[in-house]
Amino acid sequence: MPDLDTVVKEIAEEMADRPDRGEVATYIPELARVDPKAFGLVVIDADGHVAAGGDSDTPFSIQSISKVFTLTLALGMAGDRLWRRVGREPSGSPFNSIVQLERERGIPRNPFINAGAIAVTDVILSGHQPREALGEILRFMQFLAQDPTIIIDEAVAASELRTGFRNIALANYMKSFGVLDNPVDFTLGVYFHHCAIAMSCRQLANATRFLAHSGRNPMTGYSVVSAERARRINAVMLTCGHYDGSGEFAYRVGLPGKSGVGGGIIAVAPEKASIAVWSPGLDASGNSHLGRIALEQLTKRLGWSIFGA
Ligand code: GLU
Repeated sequence: MPDLDTVVKEIAEEMADRPDRGEVATYIPELARVDPKAFGLVVIDADGHVAAGGDSDTPFSIQSISKVFTLTLALGMAGDRLWRRVGREPSGSPFNSIVQLERERGIPRNPFINAGAIAVTDVILSGHQPREALGEILRFMQFLAQDPTIIIDEAVAASELRTGFRNIALANYMKSFGVLDNPVDFTLGVYFHHCAIAMSCRQLANATRFLAHSGRNPMTGYSVVSAERARRINAVMLTCGHYDGSGEFAYRVGLPGKSGVGGGIIAVAPEKASIAVWSPGLDASGNSHLGRIALEQLTKRLGWSIFGA
């Protein structure tokens, strides 16, 4: 088996030289300012060994990666009742699509498309002020990553608030079906801010460890969720984690994973490792172009696909 450090280093070098980098997201103006040449990769194995390459400590906007952690929190609050508000089937539609909501009476297909994540945020918000709910989400991220320095990038949140017309439409549409309990502005405010959390690949790989190790973070020994819940969150990541590119990601990479339009992807090799990669250029489905290619190389060289070596 090739050495993990060598593989990570080689992949980071190969990615740095590639001319095909995809297109940086511009619909959130603040994200358009990111350097398209950035690339980071961090893998943390079961023993806690960290293999890092490229810009592994540069914070970036985690965007939809936050949806994995808000799903985890909301399941902790509402238990399986959460699934009355949101489905768990792949959408086959773009991340910000509204069409499916009309067919299914305002119930989003899964918690990782925008509509689904807004519904999940609404569950976390219930019974709280927006500031408290947001504090809860941020503290959860800091706890999982064991790093109190993680912050929300207010400029990104404000930028999305100014231009988030699609998300505002999605939230109002769901509200009209009675799927959201809280004022739409409150729910969206919390949603935009948790998408604007800034983290590095190292922080994200740490925060993801519980999903790779049956719900328990081996670094702290704390059980974050039960083994059953971790397995199920991984299942939803595998089937829905890359919007309508989820099938392609499973085919090429073969791991549960979640992408964000900031160009980050987290991935889970069950019982082996947690992984975070970042390259801001996106493919046509809104997933990191080089991030996906780097993960494909990683699983191929290490034989880590869950579907076999
Ligand atoms: N905050 C972004 C939005 O709602 C997240 C999208 C993403 O990362 O895919 O549009």
